[in-house]
Amino acid sequence: MLGLCVQANLLMLGGAEEIGANCCYLELDGTGMLIDAGLHPRDRTVKAFPDIDLLENYPADILAITHAHTDHIGALPYVMRRLPYLRPIMTPATRDLSHVVMHNGARLLRTEVGRLFPAQWLEFFDKDVIEQLRYAFEALPYDEPLEIRGYSGRSPVVMTYHWSGHILGSASVSLECNGLRILHTADVKFDDQVVVPKARIPRTHTDVLITECTNANSDNTPLFPEESKRLAAFINGVSQNNGSVLIPCFALGKLQEMIPLLYGLMRRGSIPHMPIYTGGIGVRINKIYDQYCYSDPMKRPGFEVSDVPQERLRRGELDTGAYFKQPSIVLAPSGMMNVGTMSYQLALQWMGLANYGIAFVGYQDPTTPGYALMSSEAKKPFAFGTKNASRSCKVERFRFSGHAVREDLVQLAVDVQPSTIVITHGDTDACDRMAVELHHILPSSRIIIPQLGTRYALSS
Ligand SMILES: [Zn+2]
Ligand SMILES: [Zn+2]
Repeated sequence: MLGLCVQANLLMLGGAEEIGANCCYLELDGTGMLIDAGLHPRDRTVKAFPDIDLLENYPADILAITHAHTDHIGALPYVMRRLPYLRPIMTPATRDLSHVVMHNGARLLRTEVGRLFPAQWLEFFDKDVIEQLRYAFEALPYDEPLEIRGYSGRSPVVMTYHWSGHILGSASVSLECNGLRILHTADVKFDDQVVVPKARIPRTHTDVLITECTNANSDNTPLFPEESKRLAAFINGVSQNNGSVLIPCFALGKLQEMIPLLYGLMRRGSIPHMPIYTGGIGVRINKIYDQYCYSDPMKRPGFEVSDVPQERLRRGELDTGAYFKQPSIVLAPSGMMNVGTMSYQLALQWMGLANYGIAFVGYQDPTTPGYALMSSEAKKPFAFGTKNASRSCKVERFRFSGHAVREDLVQLAVDVQPSTIVITHGDTDACDRMAVELHHILPSSRIIIPQLGTRYALSS
């Protein structure tokens, strides 16, 4: 119920009307909380990081990280450098995944945003500092309420992480302060994937629901089993012609789902047995998944991704790999084929081979080489990163999303009956579509698509 909490405000520091440098600030009765500290997936201007200057007149005490994807944790070293007294909290698995992701992000950042930010603000991206930062991270397991109170906090805030079904370690966050209840879904999925099961979020009443809407503008999103059949047919078509299949793949989350999915297709006889190649930081992330195979939510407790037979994809051997001699499946980072990455280098080879195939299994931003290749027509020239290209290989798009479908997000809102709904983590069309659907079904709820830097009062 509203009214008791003297002051509750929301302010987006990044990730408003886009999937960007996600960072949502909440002030709850004098305690200041940042939820996530994301690095923008593409933007390398001042929008690369959350806008910390907006917090000039607000308290900032807690940094609650929801999961280890770059757009949620990639700017943590920057945010901690600007606000060194913040208390960073995350689930144990996210803490273990964090340094792999932060080291990777730091490599990109040192060159790309160095001109735009004072050098001292980027100091925490130093390799040794990232290692030391981890010691400050507080691990909070799922479903264990933690009472916190900021320096100027007038009432305690009880924070709880709930399994969100997105990737290992991912969490939705519920907050309660003096009678006001807030639920932030973060990246969430309400269907099982191959390795991780669906979200477990309590469906009790909440006053404020902050929801993602990544897929809100998509209709008929297929489930994993349906899409697996289509992928199997594509792989069979390519391998019957003695070709190999390249799958550009995000190293965290998507790779760990695709490895057992493909191996399962082989074991069931849906596709022939053939080598699966993996490489890059994904191999290290597989091992972290495996460490949590009993303790964290898993579809099959005890299953280890590293137990699936895999060949090592090596950067120095991309032109000469055995996948050019026998049908194979190559899972290569980056997921969007950014210039210079293994998937980009391999695609340049693949494109000239008519019997080879490329399967896109994740989101492709329209500005990326992956999107250009996915949208290309056979034998028609197109710009592929820094090169002009034309392809004769087969290309197909598949949808294995780690995000909830719109209907499930709307159902969550119906179940928790919020008086205020805040829509984030989606492009403008997705936010608008979500708002229309929610307004139709919950006409008395206040619906906010927050703008960067605008303060929204959440209680009266
Ligand atoms: Zn995510
Ligand atoms: Zn995200």
